[in-house]
Amino acid sequence: MHKRIYLSPPHMGGQEIDFVNEAFSTNWISPVGPNISAFENDLADYAGVPFVAALSSGTAAIHLALILLGVEPGDEVLCSSFTFAGSCNPIMYQQAKPIFIDSEEESWNIDPVLLERAIEDRLCKGKKPKALILVHLYGTPAKLEEILEITSKYKIPIIEDAAEALGSTYKGRRLGSFGDFGVFSFNGNKIITTSGGGALLSSNKSLIDRAKFLATQARDNAPHYEHTQIGYNYRLSNISAGIGRGQMLNLPKFITFRRRNYDRYKEALSNIVGVMFPDEPEHCFSNRWLTTILIDPELTGGIDREDVRMALEAKNIETRPLWKPMHMQPVYKEALVYANGTSERLFELGLCLPSGSNLKDSEQNEIIHAIKEVLRVTS
Ligand SMILES: *Cc1c(COP(=O)(O)O)cnc(C)c1O
Repeated sequence: MHKRIYLSPPHMGGQEIDFVNEAFSTNWISPVGPNISAFENDLADYAGVPFVAALSSGTAAIHLALILLGVEPGDEVLCSSFTFAGSCNPIMYQQAKPIFIDSEEESWNIDPVLLERAIEDRLCKGKKPKALILVHLYGTPAKLEEILEITSKYKIPIIEDAAEALGSTYKGRRLGSFGDFGVFSFNGNKIITTSGGGALLSSNKSLIDRAKFLATQARDNAPHYEHTQIGYNYRLSNISAGIGRGQMLNLPKFITFRRRNYDRYKEALSNIVGVMFPDEPEHCFSNRWLTTILIDPELTGGIDREDVRMALEAKNIETRPLWKPMHMQPVYKEALVYANGTSERLFELGLCLPSGSNLKDSEQNEIIHAIKEVLRVTS
């Protein structure tokens, strides 16, 4: 059996080790050091947002954004239901209440119609949501124009969860730059990785200064350790930031490779009855972090997502169902949701295919062959 083909493994471009070696040779083995500020500058330039805090994870970035927006126990926070738990768990850290909103069919992200209905309904109940956590899933931009119109009308700040969407654009502008805060993740499976890490972005310098302060145990300016408030240990290490600097040099290439994966899968599989690929919505450019397909058993003669997943697993190929919506998660069973059935259906039919920027053509051909085999397509 060949070696396992992973969904989205790390891909080192080569220069990462030079920045890491530099950290070793200068003994900056610490959560401070020159790689950190350089990596923050790289991200700021790339996203077009002037101020950046490099952090230990994307989840930490969302948590700090909620704190900076003043989210307190009992407050309500709007969030896409169709996402990874890292988007919304920080709402719980603040003992606030998530209000989950379902997706629209095109981008699979938050449905603007449902969003406005939810806001109106919360206002009727006497509670104005404190923030919206807006996710761009799998690299595909949400319907930003409609959403921004609603959030500016109701004056609700946006935390833009671009953890999966580094490099994607909406009307030519990079994601992560539209919200009051932008968030990236550099977890091992993302389009770039620092072996674990994240970033918080804002055009407001004092907010990012404050994020860095809170991420460093809220240490006041004094010769001894003085604390007037509770902080966190959320900073990124200078070693990890060195990996990040090297990864940033390769990001354009990684996006090209990931988009090519999507194109090759689509070319080979989209004419199979019952297999559907999400298109790139108008004005959008997706980094195609993961290639996703929908498999409708009513059109494939009964073969469903799980049949395909298990057949590939038997060939040592990792695939995964789409994110299970948060409103279907046992841990969020008490949470309020404004649902329309879209994310539940996507979860039932959807599968993420191996999408690494280092996926070889020969491996992808094998995956394509295996999918055709289960779906009994001869070619
Ligand atoms: C990965 C991810 C996060 C969390 O990032 P971590 O760095 O793993 O904490 C948040 N939201 C989404 C949509 C993600 O995919």
